[in-house]
Amino acid sequence: MPDRPLGLPADDTAGILKALAASGTLTELYGREPTGRLDPLLLRRILTEADAQSPTGTVLALLVQLASATPLLTEMADGPAAAHTLRAALHGEELLALAATDTAAPGSDLAALGTTADLSGTDGDMVLDGGKRWVTSALTAGHALVLARHRPGRHFTSFTWVLVPLTAPGVTVQAADTDLFDGAGLGHLRFHSVRLPREHVLGRSGRGLALFARHLTVERLASAAWAVALCRRALADTDRRLADRSVDGTPLRRSSSVRQRLADCAVRLSALDALWTQSADRIAGHHDATAAATLKALSGMTVEHVLTACGHLQGADGFDRGGAQRLRAEAAVFGIGGGATEVVLDTVAERLDQVLDRLTP
Ligand SMILES: Cc1cc2nc3c(=O)[nH]c(=O)nc-3n(C[C@H](O)[C@H](O)[C@H](O)COP(=O)(O)OP(=O)(O)OC[C@H]3O[C@@H](n4cnc5c(N)ncnc54)[C@H](O)[C@@H]3O)c2cc1C
Repeated sequence: MPDRPLGLPADDTAGILKALAASGTLTELYGREPTGRLDPLLLRRILTEADAQSPTGTVLALLVQLASATPLLTEMADGPAAAHTLRAALHGEELLALAATDTAAPGSDLAALGTTADLSGTDGDMVLDGGKRWVTSALTAGHALVLARHRPGRHFTSFTWVLVPLTAPGVTVQAADTDLFDGAGLGHLRFHSVRLPREHVLGRSGRGLALFARHLTVERLASAAWAVALCRRALADTDRRLADRSVDGTPLRRSSSVRQRLADCAVRLSALDALWTQSADRIAGHHDATAAATLKALSGMTVEHVLTACGHLQGADGFDRGGAQRLRAEAAVFGIGGGATEVVLDTVAERLDQVLDRLTP
């Protein structure tokens, strides 16, 4: 029997989170005593329903909050400030931003990031300097989890997370200059000598990158679930439009090249769905980085292929306001955000033996 709809409100991300908390869905998602793990099938239902009724940017912010920011904070919420913020997030009362992509380095080279957390002070404070760009919910969140370095060098133990109230003195928030992603609250953050009590340093210092890598796996799982929902919606819409559009008395939907193109998209989408189902427990339960990179690579390539086909097959109407071409532009984020397709393919290449071994019956 299919699951009952969750009945999400047609609201912004904050409103959807409140509704999820009020209905007990957030408790169901993370468990009564959250540990940082979540129920992947329930997360998929939430994102699928949100995709059906909300702008892409709203779903993006929901995904970051549910799949990565809240679970990551759960694992690091030792001090009172972090525990308080986590409680607010779990009660649907506060949006969190997750700021890793740095102004000083390409997002694909996190180990080169330039934002610094100076922990050397003897007065019990720490000082944050630097900047982050393209941060989802930067304009709407109360706090950002900021990935910073506490010592120079690329070694993975040089990084740590800092809980930053976005109203703290020295924090500047600037809206991203884009017409896309309505509702995502996208922005850039600057930190100028931001002084915070030491309890704002999250978790054991030096564990920042390792914890991020763990939770990035679940973000990739969530994003692939959303990719299936978004492509399915675009493909069904394209199919309907082509059935209603005739050339020389024959619906375009019956043209053999159009049919094959739609079928080609449906086959690729089915493969993504099958890989999602096969990898969900491995990723959500064990944070399997190889499985997550494989899924992310397929997801990025599938979305690009399907949305390009849908945009093309909708002809000029695809350029309507809010039409398939806009969706295609926004959906390009599946091949960039959370790890560009080339970067995850590099990960798959490094672990090719493991990927191939898993194909043995
Ligand atoms: C809508 C949106 C929301 C976002 N939200 C967040 C957020 O909430 N928090 C956050 O921290 N960041 C966020 N980001 C940033 C995102 O994570 C980065 O864009 C991503 O990591 C890529 O980094 P970059 O943009 O600096 O591209 P770069 O790293 O400069 O890469 C540019 C391009 O170079 C190519 N490339 C990169 N590496 C390789 C390689 N190894 N081999 C071959 N080619 C390569 C790829 O084609 C890539 O797209 C968001 C981005 C967008 C667009």
